[in-house]
Amino acid sequence: MIVDQIWTGNAYRNFNYLIACDESGEALAVDPLDHEKCLARAQARGWRITQVLNTHEHFDHTGGNAAIVAATGAKLLAHANAKDSIPGLDRGLRAHDVIKVGRTVELEALDTPGHTMAHVCLLSHTDTPALFCGDTLFNAGAGNCHHGGHPAELYATFAHQLARLPDTTLIYPGHDYIVNNLNFTLAREPDNARAQSVLGAVREQDPNAALVSTLALEKEINTFFRLHSPSVIATLREACPDLPEQPDARTVFLKLRELRNSW
Ligand SMILES: [Zn+2]
Ligand SMILES: [Zn+2]
Repeated sequence: MIVDQIWTGNAYRNFNYLIACDESGEALAVDPLDHEKCLARAQARGWRITQVLNTHEHFDHTGGNAAIVAATGAKLLAHANAKDSIPGLDRGLRAHDVIKVGRTVELEALDTPGHTMAHVCLLSHTDTPALFCGDTLFNAGAGNCHHGGHPAELYATFAHQLARLPDTTLIYPGHDYIVNNLNFTLAREPDNARAQSVLGAVREQDPNAALVSTLALEKEINTFFRLHSPSVIATLREACPDLPEQPDARTVFLKLRELRNSW
């Protein structure tokens, strides 16, 4: 499996992806909003885009579908429940469906509601797993729930699915928000030395060669995985005096998501 992360350079800071089989040269394009860049990259690599997958129905993820399909004849895949919101869907995905790319690549669809209620993440079946997580999980952050999502579902997705993946899992999110998100982590947990050092490393990074984090790193720098951290809880209790001394993880997550909305 070869993964190309494509930086769009747009105002929304989207990342697009090509996932290719190194034997057949067939490729799957994930959320290829910048269709020109994705087609050019595939051509430069000698790849043929045979499938397009949308992690969810928002336009900054689906906006390139028509152009890619017109240019390549690729099949369009997304969550089965996105059939009314994504035109031209060829294959509706359900939890644990497997997507094959060429002869060597297998990707598993995870049903990951929260940012929207028709959101899939892709988990590769490789020695080192890779997670293509759209707007559910970002580097050092979590998706918002403003446009068709629910914070409680997002918590369940984090706690019951994402947090249980192997620590070595590589994280490929739908946007480059890492600097803002690390600043939020540090606002909530000022003594997080790891977040401070990663912020120093990525502040001036070229998004064309962005840091690819792992789940292990996310558990250190992503507030939404740090629900038992004493300093996260202490600063949260300052902001929300009604919180009990030992709030449960779900309550902490929901309060953090709420604070992030107005941060
Ligand atoms: Zn979105
Ligand atoms: Zn997005």
